Amino acid sequence: MRRHLSFVLLAAICVSVLASCCHNEKKAKYVFYFIGDGMGFSHVSLAEGYLATKEGKIGNSPLCFSQFPVMGMATSYSANRYITCSSAAGTALATGAKTNNGMLGVTPDTVELTAISYKIHNAGFPIGITTSVTIDHATPASFYANSAARSDYYSIARQLSESGFEFFGGGGFYGVKDKRHAEKSLYDIAVEAGYEFAYGVEDYKAKKGNSEKMILFQAEEAKRNNDLPYVAERVEGDLQLPQVVEAAIDFLNNEKGFFLMVEGGKIDWAAHSNDLQGTILETLDFDQAIQVAYNFYLQHPEETLIVVTADHETGGVTLGRGKGYVYDLSVVNEGNKVAQEGTDVSNYMQDISRDSLSVVAKIGWTSTSHTGGAVPVFAVGAQSGLFAGRQDNTDIPKKICKAMGVEF
Ligand SMILES: [Zn+2]
Repeated sequence: MRRHLSFVLLAAICVSVLASCCHNEKKAKYVFYFIGDGMGFSHVSLAEGYLATKEGKIGNSPLCFSQFPVMGMATSYSANRYITCSSAAGTALATGAKTNNGMLGVTPDTVELTAISYKIHNAGFPIGITTSVTIDHATPASFYANSAARSDYYSIARQLSESGFEFFGGGGFYGVKDKRHAEKSLYDIAVEAGYEFAYGVEDYKAKKGNSEKMILFQAEEAKRNNDLPYVAERVEGDLQLPQVVEAAIDFLNNEKGFFLMVEGGKIDWAAHSNDLQGTILETLDFDQAIQVAYNFYLQHPEETLIVVTADHETGGVTLGRGKGYVYDLSVVNEGNKVAQEGTDVSNYMQDISRDSLSVVAKIGWTSTSHTGGAVPVFAVGAQSGLFAGRQDNTDIPKKICKAMGVEF
C-alpha cells in the first residue's frame, strides 16, 4: 500500500513537472504560415538534389525549412474528392473545415466559414496575406473570402477590401478581367476601404508610413494584375516573393505580434506543366522567402513560430524515371546558366521541351494535375511541437490558434 502511494505521488510530481514545463513555453506571438502550393515531399527532395548537384556531390543539400526541428505530414483530401484542388485545400488550411473542390471558404452546402485570420485579427494581431500568384487566387483568398465558386475573382477581390487586414502583397487582382471591374474598380474599392497601394519595393518604402493598411503589387503597370514572374523569367525590378515577405514583416512588426500567411504559388503552376527547371527554382525561391522569416525568428526565437506546409502535391514528380538508379539534375543547372547569361529563357525552353529536359534528367511525372498523397509539415519556434507527426490539413489552423492562445 505504501509502495503504491509513493508511486502515485511520484507520478503526480512527474505530471505536474511536465505540465509546468509545457505551460512555461511561451505562446507564439509572431506567426508565419507558409504554404507551398503543390509542394509534395518529392519537390523538396528535388530542390535538395539540385543544390547537391550544384555543389558537385551525390546526396541532398538541405534547404532552410527542411532543417526545421519539427516534422510531420498532413493528409490533404477534400470533402468530395481524394485529390483536392487548391481552394478546398486552402479552405481546410485556413478554416479547419473541409469543403468540395472548387469551393472557397464555405461548407459543401455553402454555409460561410470563418478563417483563422479573422479570429486572430479579432484577438488584436495585425494580419498579412501574401503570395507569388494573384492575390485573389485560391490559397490567399481562403484567408479572407467566402465564395461558392473559386473562379468568381471579382467578388473575391472585393472581399479583400472588406477584410480590414493590414497587409496584402504579391500579384494583383485577376478579378480586373471581370466586366464588373469596369463599373466599379477593385482598386477604387480598396482605396475607399482605406488601403494604400504601393507598386514595387521602392514605392513601398516611400509610402509605408501613410496608412494603416497597405497593398503591395508589381512596379510595372503592365504586369501588375498578373502573378509574379517565374524565377527563370525575372527581369530587374520585378517583385519577388522574398521581398514581399520582407516588406510584410516591416509593415506588420509591433509589440503585440502578427500573423503572416505566405503562399509559394508558382511551384504548383510549374509542376502542372511538368516544368522541371521551374519546379526546382520556384521551390528554392519559396525557401528564400522562408529564410527571411527565419532571420526574424533568430531575433525572437522564443516568441516566433514558423509553420511550412503544402496544400497538395502537383505533378506526381519522382526522382528517377523508368528503369535504373540514377537521376541527373546537372542539365537543369545548365538551363539556369542560360537564363543567367541573359539568353531568352522562353526560347531556350522551346529548344529543349520541358518534357525532354525531364527525360534527360531522368525525372518522372505521372500527372499534369494534383495527386492525392500526404504533404510535408515543417515547424520551428514557439509551440512548434504541436505540428509533429500525423495530422489532417484541417488540424493545422486549429493548432496555430492554440499556439497563439487564440480561441478557435
Ligand atoms: Zn494546382
